[in-house]
Amino acid sequence: MNVTRREFTKQASLIALSSLACAHLAKAKTIYTVRKGDTLGHIAQRHGVSTAELRRTNRLSGDMIGVGQKLSIPNQSAATTAAAGTGNRYLVQSGDTLGAIALSHGISVGDLKRANNVSSDVIRIGQTLRIPAISSTKDFLSHVRVATAKITVRRNHWQRIVVHHSAIKYGNAKKYDAAHRQRGMQNGLAYHFLIGNGIDSGDGEIEIGPRWTNQLLGGHLKSYELNLTAIGICFVGNFEQTQPSKKQLAAFTQLMDWLQGDVLQKNTQFAGHKELKGEQTICPGKHFPLAAMHARYD
Ligand SMILES: [Zn+2]
Repeated sequence: MNVTRREFTKQASLIALSSLACAHLAKAKTIYTVRKGDTLGHIAQRHGVSTAELRRTNRLSGDMIGVGQKLSIPNQSAATTAAAGTGNRYLVQSGDTLGAIALSHGISVGDLKRANNVSSDVIRIGQTLRIPAISSTKDFLSHVRVATAKITVRRNHWQRIVVHHSAIKYGNAKKYDAAHRQRGMQNGLAYHFLIGNGIDSGDGEIEIGPRWTNQLLGGHLKSYELNLTAIGICFVGNFEQTQPSKKQLAAFTQLMDWLQGDVLQKNTQFAGHKELKGEQTICPGKHFPLAAMHARYD
């Protein structure tokens, strides 16, 4: 068969996404007319919604907007990523489970149940859940923002973000950098970002590799072509044996939200290492919540 399972899943999720766009369109309240000088990012920011949400609602695949174009501004309470002072709200969609929602927001199911005063695991489509502002209120990202403000990100260059585990519970950017140089990588640390687990760097600490500050190709994939276009984020840990920590997941979602929504401002492919063609690996391990992250980032 020509259609691989991966392609089939991709098609199925595209269909799910377009029906999602319909649902959002129906809820949209405000119509905004694009003015000279507007960018999608600025419009999103001004209305307190994410760029991704705005794109979804208006079925845009890129950032191209024209003066006079009418954009539907999604209802903020329905916007899954709308920032609110006391925590976010999430609109339950078809196929969601409490576990998946909790994981994709870097919180526990217990936190989620407590915040919504529910004891059962049953949720229904259209229900609004309060996402508690827990440890994720901790800003894991401020130093990354500061460092990135000093460089010019090659936005057109990056087409996908690939997640890895290091397959070992020890290590940090400095140690992996040395190991990768020893293996003959002159640019050192193969990944652009590393997320610590509390052993050799902080739990949820995001370390920035020189390949990000210098906007260099990654060394995290077997395929040279993919390395040219893929940002690599690696969790310290072996997720064949353990799960990523809550703080690691919170840091990861902050990093991903920011990369997709603010830095790249375009649809980027999200993938676990093993999902890429020809890579032959089990990375990022069976305990990494890939499905939940796809639900959030596809
Ligand atoms: Zn990997």
